[in-house]
Amino acid sequence: MELASYADRAVQLVNTADPYRHRDTLTSCEQAKELLAPEGRCRVTNADVAELRVIRDRLREIFDAAEAGRVPRAVQILNSLMKQYPIRPVVTDHDESSYHLHLAEGAPNIAAVYGAKAALGLAVQATELGFDRLGVCQAAPCREVFIDTSTNRSRRYCSDRCATRANVAAYRARRKEQAARVGAAAAAEAQSAEAEERRTGVMAGAGSTRTW
Ligand SMILES: [Zn+2]
Ligand SMILES: [Zn+2]
Repeated sequence: MELASYADRAVQLVNTADPYRHRDTLTSCEQAKELLAPEGRCRVTNADVAELRVIRDRLREIFDAAEAGRVPRAVQILNSLMKQYPIRPVVTDHDESSYHLHLAEGAPNIAAVYGAKAALGLAVQATELGFDRLGVCQAAPCREVFIDTSTNRSRRYCSDRCATRANVAAYRARRKEQAARVGAAAAAEAQSAEAEERRTGVMAGAGSTRTW
């Protein structure tokens, strides 16, 4: 497994919360088990859920800081996470499995294992691709995060769904603006026509007064 692929763990964890739409899919052990499925069979406690939620907030801060161009701040949080959740690799063949690598052997709980892998993966990706590749979705109110692996650094949305939604919204806004411009022009025309009518009307009236 490529170390960079562990960055997906960071993205998945952050996106369990949608702070601007008050959605949170990491509130129970059952939900945590779903998130932790790639870690294999494991015991999940309420303490793990609580710890994962704290890790989630700090990972979110990294993406937000990177998005705002505050890279030193992003680096600072990332380094503190890696210090708290260190990598301790060991090759093992426990339970008659084939030899495989454990990255955070001896971590106190499964949340810590997840935190270690997520932070490491994010660090690998951010240093290889650049911190500007850590993105936050631009299709408001969505604030889901992503890592931009596109060749031209052009990704702005978390998903195709959000890209479509943003494109439709932009199209509607353009149409509305266009309609407003046309409407304003028509109204101005009508107004000047009316004024013209009034002017000629008054003159005609004046003329007729004179005739009478
Ligand atoms: Zn194992
Ligand atoms: Zn989105």
